[in-house]
Amino acid sequence: MYNKNVAMNVEGKEKIADSFELGPFRPPSEAYSLLIRATRNCPWNRCRFCGMYKGQKFQLRPVEEIKQDIKAMKNVRDSIMGLSWRSGYGGRTKEVAAMVLNKPPNQAFYNIALWLYDGGQNAFLQDANSLIMRTNELTEILRFLRGTFPDISRITSYGRSQTAAKKTLEELVEIHEAGLSRLHIGLESGSDRVLKFVDKGVSAAEHIKGGRKVVESGISLSEYVLLGLGGKEMWREHAIETARVLNEISPNFIRIRTLSLGERSPMYPDVLNGNFIRITDEEMIEEEKLLIENLDCNSYYVSDHIANLLQEVEGGLPEDKEKMLAVIDRFQSLRPEERTNFRIGRRARIYTYLDELNDSRRYKVVEQIVDKLSQGNHDIDEEVVHKMREGFI
Ligand code: SF4
Repeated sequence: MYNKNVAMNVEGKEKIADSFELGPFRPPSEAYSLLIRATRNCPWNRCRFCGMYKGQKFQLRPVEEIKQDIKAMKNVRDSIMGLSWRSGYGGRTKEVAAMVLNKPPNQAFYNIALWLYDGGQNAFLQDANSLIMRTNELTEILRFLRGTFPDISRITSYGRSQTAAKKTLEELVEIHEAGLSRLHIGLESGSDRVLKFVDKGVSAAEHIKGGRKVVESGISLSEYVLLGLGGKEMWREHAIETARVLNEISPNFIRIRTLSLGERSPMYPDVLNGNFIRITDEEMIEEEKLLIENLDCNSYYVSDHIANLLQEVEGGLPEDKEKMLAVIDRFQSLRPEERTNFRIGRRARIYTYLDELNDSRRYKVVEQIVDKLSQGNHDIDEEVVHKMREGFI
C-alpha cells in the first residue's frame, strides 16, 4: 500500500464540507470508488519504507459515526440525482455527474460525482487496515453500505496479512458474505530477512497463512510486491522468496510497485550511511525477471503504477509468463543509449510503453533531457534517476 494521495486530503478528523470524512489514500484501482473511512491511519505504522501515516495516530471509528457518513453520502448522491431531473437530464447519472464535476460546490459533491460518473458500482473502505475492526462491526458496516447503495457490486479494502492470519476462516467468510469483495494486502517481500530489515511486522509464514485464508474465504486477494526492497545485498533472495510465498498463496492479483525512498522516508538514513544500497532501474528489471521466472501460481500480474519502469509487463499466470518475460527481454536487448532514453523518458512521464521509443519526436525530446542531465556524455548519475522516481511518491 504505497500510493500517492490524488483524491483528497483531510487532517485527522476534519469533515469535508460538513458531510463526511475521507482518508488520504486508496489504491490506483480504486480511484473512482466511493471512499468510506472505516478507520483512521495505520495500526502498525512502522514499515520503514513507508511514510504514509507517520505521525498520525491509529483510531477505530464508532460504527454509528461511519453510518452517519454513509447516510451523508446518500444525501449528496440524492441531491445530484435530483439535479439530474431539474436540469433536464431525466435522471441520467453520467451527464449530471459530468456537470457537477465541472463546478463542484464542495469536495463531497466532487467525490460523489466522480464515483457516479464512473458508474457508481465500486466502494473502498479506508484507511490502512479495515480488517482490524471487530468482525461484527465490520460486517454491520458492510451490510449497511450494501443496503444504502444496492447498486454497489464491489467493496474492497486494505488489510494486513497478520490481521488476516489472526481472524478465523469463519470470520473471513462472514465478512465476505456481508459484502467485502476484495482485500489489498501489502506483501512487499516474501524474504524474512527483507521483511525484518524494513520492519514489516510480519513473517513470510504469516503472509502465507493470512493470504491463504483470504483466498479460501472467497474474498478476492491483491498482493502488492515492492521491487527494489532487498537493495543490492538481498535482491536475489527478495525475488526468489517473494515468488515462493506468492506460489503458496496464489492470490487473484499480484500488483507490482517500485521502491522510492524520499528524503523523509525512515529508511533514507540507511541510504546515506550505506546500510541500504538501492538497486538501479536496470537491476530492478533483472529482479522482476527473476521474480516472474520463479512464479508458479494462478494469478493475474499487474504493473499498474506510474513508478514501474515496464508498465506493460502484465498478464495471467501461468499462460502469459513467456509474453511477460519477452517484454523484459525486449527492454534488455535495446542498445544502451535506447535503454537510457527509455528510462529517462519514462521517469519524465514522456513514455508509458516501450513502443513509444519509435516515436521520433518524443525520442528527440528525451535525448535533449538526457544531454542536459549527463552534460552531453550520456552517462546519467543513478542518483538523478532515483530523484526523478521519488517525484512519484
Ligand atoms: S502497514 Fe501499510 S500503511 Fe502501515 S506502515 Fe506498513 S506499508 Fe505503511
